[in-house]
Amino acid sequence: MPGFELFGDAERKEVNEVLETGVLMRYGFDGMRNNIWKAKAMEAELEDLLQVNHAQLVSSGTAALNVALAALGVGAGDEVIMPTFTFVASFESILTAGATPVLVDIDESLTLDPKAVAAAITPKTKVIMPVHMCGAMADLTALKALASKHDIFLLEDACQAFAGTYKGDALGTIGDIGCFSFDYVKTITCGEGGAVVTNSPELATFSDHFSDHGHTHIGTDRGAEEHPFIGYNYRISELNAAVGLAQIRRTEEFLTIQKRNKKILKDALATIPEVRFRILPDEAGDSATFLSFFMPSLALARMTVQAFKEYGIDANWHYYDNSWHYIRAWEHFVNQRTLGPLSQEVKSGLEYLKTAEFKQSDDVIGRNISCLIKLSWSAEEVKARAEKMVAAIQSVL
Ligand SMILES: *Cc1c(COP(=O)(O)O)cnc(C)c1O
Repeated sequence: MPGFELFGDAERKEVNEVLETGVLMRYGFDGMRNNIWKAKAMEAELEDLLQVNHAQLVSSGTAALNVALAALGVGAGDEVIMPTFTFVASFESILTAGATPVLVDIDESLTLDPKAVAAAITPKTKVIMPVHMCGAMADLTALKALASKHDIFLLEDACQAFAGTYKGDALGTIGDIGCFSFDYVKTITCGEGGAVVTNSPELATFSDHFSDHGHTHIGTDRGAEEHPFIGYNYRISELNAAVGLAQIRRTEEFLTIQKRNKKILKDALATIPEVRFRILPDEAGDSATFLSFFMPSLALARMTVQAFKEYGIDANWHYYDNSWHYIRAWEHFVNQRTLGPLSQEVKSGLEYLKTAEFKQSDDVIGRNISCLIKLSWSAEEVKARAEKMVAAIQSVL
């Protein structure tokens, strides 16, 4: 998956253009910048690639989530539904907004189980936040239907699924608002960066202003701009945007390699009857950054991970035992380990986590193994890897 594997002359050229002007900020300095606008250019390319009306680049995927939640008007007293399997940023961004994260089970799609979401909706629910984990999509038809039935928002965290699609539309553009990360290990990278995308002109304006202290970006005098509401600083720098601009132009190249590599591994593992694959609501839209499969039990999944080590197969995750992506190890959330005090409302809103059980998620994640698909592997290397993976899995069965 990571774009950093293929960093080269194109990226250096874009960065050098910024260094030559010395204007590292994305706004203003019109006279000095020699008409170089890397963030604006990358936004235009994102809009074109994803076929969405508005893209707002920001400083990270976490920043994108913060901005998107703010644009949706999420704050004190609100609940946001999120999955038990995601990166910790989902939970953090909801707390940053002052709202309460409501965790619900995933299913074998490795994303939100629509039945669990339906059961968790309350009068306080403002947003459903599916996370398109490991390169592919949640069941957006079901989740969209739930969101419109209850008149609440759908925010897609597509940080791990850049350039994936669902029924022909880009992930991130199907709900009310979508978020991407371009951190160093994502499909394409800015070094650090992220984006908020939406088709709503109002949400686009809120995202634009909120990510830059409330600036309206009208006129050429920053100091004279109005501030219609309070914002913060989630701006991306021109240097980071320059790297991303070179990388976004390589999206097709990256996806083609990922799909080729993934198919070789998947076809090989499909010969083992005990191995089942992750459910993909639309296989054609998979961005192919990971191959995710299930062993028949937690014990066999653990043995497989051990066997992979012995066979020299790296880059695979058993998230059940991982601190950052699955609730089992999020004791700092359960115990509310914040530096400053939380509001009473959020504190009591999070009490349920102390006793909550997520048996369905435990079962799914316990059996799951996800293998990163690298861009730098040659087809021959992938074939050799596939053979070793099959041998390792067979050795534990
Ligand atoms: C990486 C990631 C984020 C956060 O992105 P950063 O750019 O690292 O802040 C959020 N959600 C998911 C699912 C991610 O994988």
